[in-house]
Amino acid sequence: MGEILDGKAVAERVRAEVGRRVVALAERGIVPGLATVLVGDDPASRVYVGSKEKGCAALGMRSFGHRPPADATTSQLVALVEELNARPDVHGILVQLPLPNTLDEDAVIQAIAPAKDVDGLTIASQGRLLTGRGGLRPCTPLGIMRLVAETGLELRGTHAVVVGRSNLVGKPIALMLLEQHATVTMCHSRTRDLAAVVRGADVVVAAVGRAELVRGDWIRDGAVVIDVGINRTADGKLVGDVEFAAARERAAWITPVPGGVGPMTVAMLLANTAAAAETGPTAAAIGASASA
Ligand code: NAD
Repeated sequence: MGEILDGKAVAERVRAEVGRRVVALAERGIVPGLATVLVGDDPASRVYVGSKEKGCAALGMRSFGHRPPADATTSQLVALVEELNARPDVHGILVQLPLPNTLDEDAVIQAIAPAKDVDGLTIASQGRLLTGRGGLRPCTPLGIMRLVAETGLELRGTHAVVVGRSNLVGKPIALMLLEQHATVTMCHSRTRDLAAVVRGADVVVAAVGRAELVRGDWIRDGAVVIDVGINRTADGKLVGDVEFAAARERAAWITPVPGGVGPMTVAMLLANTAAAAETGPTAAAIGASASA
């Protein structure tokens, strides 16, 4: 039976590491600052932003909450982002998604200066990842890479299968696995015989949003299984994209839902904010990679 890859415990360790970096920054007179932008009053988004702001406070970082009303315009939000881009005490900018559908979400995100793009979602950040340059990476894939590292698995030469191809998770995690020299297969809603592809995987990352789509008997013995999905069942339970109990029978390591990838995302946002403060406004060079 596979070991549980405990995202809560790993996230605590990441937070402790970030706390030490905050102390080192304080010695240089720098307090990392995260600006959060929450448009309207969606209750779930309010909870997410609240946990990010609390995370900052717990580590001695500043957060600056901005709460434009639901009827704010795209140009007002772009102007707010530009004002935050210019502020020296703001090192990271987080625009909580989704924005109300009256707004041009892409225009708002793309207005974020790449050096402050702690969610890693601008074209500049994604392009830097694609071309093997250093830069701020999206938080959920960063968290997944940290979880895989915790297993001790050497990714070089392994076959990693990513199910889902969103800009938020699937595409960036595939590129990050590639950076670590895995052979990566990307699957999506049009993939033929998904079961056969997943059966060849040493590492499976499921980021689909369909309850238990990845069946336990698709998992190769000894695989590392990372379940990003968050799905609510009819009886109100949270389940992932992987059939957990059956998959655990075969896997070497598997993330639970909840308590796997989820807690890592906020921890990596805090890590990115510290990294942005360390690097400053001129360079986006955080980490680099090989392409050979
Ligand atoms: P998305 O809806 O943008 O993308 C889903 C992807 O799944 C698409 O690329 C699609 O091609 C693929 N897909 C759909 N049906 C499929 C099928 N039958 N077979 C194979 N592939 C199929 O989703 P997303 O934003 O990447 O999120 C995926 C899931 O991860 C959601 O449940 C989301 O809530 C969760 N999520 C969790 C975190 C976290 O911090 N834990 C962060 C982001 C997303």
